[in-house]
Amino acid sequence: MHYTFWGARGSIPTPLTTEQVKQKISAVVGRIRPADLSSPSHREAFLDSLPAWLFGTPGGNTTCFEVELSDGTALVFDAGSGLRELARKRMQADEGPSTYHLFFTHFHYDHLQGLPFFIPCYLSSFSVRFYSPVPDFRNIVIDQMRHPYFPVTMEGTMQANLEFKSLPEGGELKLGGARITWRPVSHPGGAFAYRIEENGKSIVFSPDVALGEDEFERSERNRRFFGNADVLILDAQYTLGEAIEKYDWGHSSYSLGVDFATGWNISTLYLFHHEPLYDDRKLDRNLHAARWYAQRSGNTTLHIDLAREGERYEL
Ligand SMILES: [Zn+2]
Ligand SMILES: [Zn+2]
Repeated sequence: MHYTFWGARGSIPTPLTTEQVKQKISAVVGRIRPADLSSPSHREAFLDSLPAWLFGTPGGNTTCFEVELSDGTALVFDAGSGLRELARKRMQADEGPSTYHLFFTHFHYDHLQGLPFFIPCYLSSFSVRFYSPVPDFRNIVIDQMRHPYFPVTMEGTMQANLEFKSLPEGGELKLGGARITWRPVSHPGGAFAYRIEENGKSIVFSPDVALGEDEFERSERNRRFFGNADVLILDAQYTLGEAIEKYDWGHSSYSLGVDFATGWNISTLYLFHHEPLYDDRKLDRNLHAARWYAQRSGNTTLHIDLAREGERYEL
């Protein structure tokens, strides 16, 4: 399977500011030596040598994550503002999917605000199947697109074949060759995490969670859900100090994420739900601090990276 981050920012869309763009350009210009400009290949080599926080950005769109199964089935997790970009890119492709399976972790704005701009919902040639463990979630989704919050309604304008499927507690769903399970996690108002397994590989997606006793408990249920995942995409919005200060805001720190990934024998940890106050350099510093902390804790095999908007990976 393949997976793509379409939005990794927490809480609110956060475009790069003019000041941040200037800082990036200024830092790049300061690194150029005359030899770097001596030929096209030297220029390319120079650009390739730049750190990710300078030549690129983790992005400002809110939560949207896609998993493409090996048979092409498109699973989408959350409908933050990144969902719009997903549709734009996927509809440009000659063989984009005609059916989307869209799973909600919860319904805070940053996980729902992209849905009114998801073009496939408006076209009769598409099917969009919505999933959530919340029993009455159809009304929650439909009610967010009404006057005075939005100019048109879902029922009035969305021509795709829309279906809503509530997921039973403790159940599982088979789609394509994948098995999908879910569980509640600690977050104000409630949220869910999903585990996707296909061909012996597994991804756990938990974008909003204040990791606590429920998630760390060494229970069989937790081991089956979190244990030995190849990829964990985890809420790591804060530094440890902020996590203590904002203990009831519903998010986790990168250091707690490293402890959690170590405890459940995770192979790759993506820091997700980036804090809107942090610029790209600060996010990069947090990434290096997380890697340093993992090494100091004795976990030398855990691969840690920032979730970066637009990046597609194979698993
Ligand atoms: Zn969120
Ligand atoms: Zn939330």
